Amino acid sequence: MSPRPSAVVRTLDRWIGHLDMDAFFAAVEQLDHPEYRGCPVIVGGLGPRGVVSTASYEARAFGIHSALPMAVARRQCPDGVYVKPRFLRYREISEHVRSIVRRYASAIETISLDEAFFDLSEHGPDPTEIHRVARSLKRDVQAETKLTCSVGLAPNRFLAKLGSELDKPDGFTMIAPDDIREILDPLPVSQIWGVGKVTAKRLTSLGLLRVKDLRLAPLDLLVRELGSIGRRLQQLANGIDETSLSGEVDSKSISRESTYSFDVSDWDEIESEVRRLTAQVAGSLQAENLVCRVVRIKVRYPDFKTITRQAQLDVGTDSPHVIETLALDLLRHRVRLTDQGIRLLGVGLGAISEASARQLPLSPDWL
Ligand SMILES: [Mg+2]
Repeated sequence: MSPRPSAVVRTLDRWIGHLDMDAFFAAVEQLDHPEYRGCPVIVGGLGPRGVVSTASYEARAFGIHSALPMAVARRQCPDGVYVKPRFLRYREISEHVRSIVRRYASAIETISLDEAFFDLSEHGPDPTEIHRVARSLKRDVQAETKLTCSVGLAPNRFLAKLGSELDKPDGFTMIAPDDIREILDPLPVSQIWGVGKVTAKRLTSLGLLRVKDLRLAPLDLLVRELGSIGRRLQQLANGIDETSLSGEVDSKSISRESTYSFDVSDWDEIESEVRRLTAQVAGSLQAENLVCRVVRIKVRYPDFKTITRQAQLDVGTDSPHVIETLALDLLRHRVRLTDQGIRLLGVGLGAISEASARQLPLSPDWL
C-alpha cells in the first residue's frame, strides 16, 4: 500500500451514534394494541421454560427484566399482559428505523432488531451541527414509528453506547471530547465494555471500583491480574475506543463540499458547483498520481437530512470529465431535488489506488 497522500481526508474527528429503541418488543405490542398501553407488558416465551425477551417500563417496576424466567415473572406480576413475540412485525419496524438512520448516516452497523451504531462524521466536526442532525434523526424515528428511542452520540462506539444507556427511555446524550473524563470517572467499572461479573469482582478485589480507579491504575498491575484485556480496559477507562463500525465503507477518500448561505435550487447553479468541486477533487487525485473507482455525491437538504449516492467504475480514473459525468448522473437520477433546494453539495472519490491501474472506464456499475 502506498503512503497515505496528503489530500486524503482522515476521519480523526469522528461522531458515532448509538440508537436503542426503548423496550422495543413491548413498545411495539403497546403500539399495536392500545388496550395494553399503561399496562405491564411482558414479551417472551410463554411455555414452562420460557424467558422474558422484553418487559415494558410498567413491568420493570415489578422487577421484571429480560432473561428472567417467565415463571418468576408471572409470580412477581400476576396481572401482567403476557404475549409471544411477533418477530416479523418487529423486523418491519426495525427496517423502517434503519432507513431513517440511513438518511443521515454514511455507515450503519446493526447490532440487533432494536439497536444500531451509525456514523455522522461526514456532517463535520462541529458539535452544534452534529447535535442538530442527531436530534432531527431521533425526531423522525418518533414521528414515523410512534415509538421512542434513546440516542448516544460520542467520538467512538464505546462512548456512544454508554451515552444511550445513561439516559433512558427517550434519552439523548452527547458526550463531547471535553466531557469524557467527567462523565466516565465516577461510573462503576461494570459500565466498561467487557467488564462482566467475574472481571468486576476481580477489579473490586484490587480496590478498583470506579472508572477513575481503573484509569489511574498501573498498567502492569492490570496486565498481570487480567492479562491482555487489562490494557484494553484501561484504554476504555480513558474513553479511547478505536474499533470501527463493521460495514463501514473505505476510509481512504478525497472529498470537497460546499455549504451554501442560501438554499440552492437552480439546476444550472448546481451543475456549475459540481464542475467546480470535481475540478478540485480530480486535481487532488492527479497531484498524487492516484485514480479512483468510486464517485460519490452528497446532498444536504434544508431540513439537514443528508444523503449520499455513489457509482462504481470497473477501472480507476482520474479524469475530471468522467467524474463530473458520473456525479451529474447521480444528481439527475438518484437524488430528489425539490424547489426547497439544497443546503450542501459534496463530491467525493473512493476506492483510491495508485495511478498504474489507470485505464478508461468501461461500464459504470451502478450501486
Ligand atoms: Mg432497546
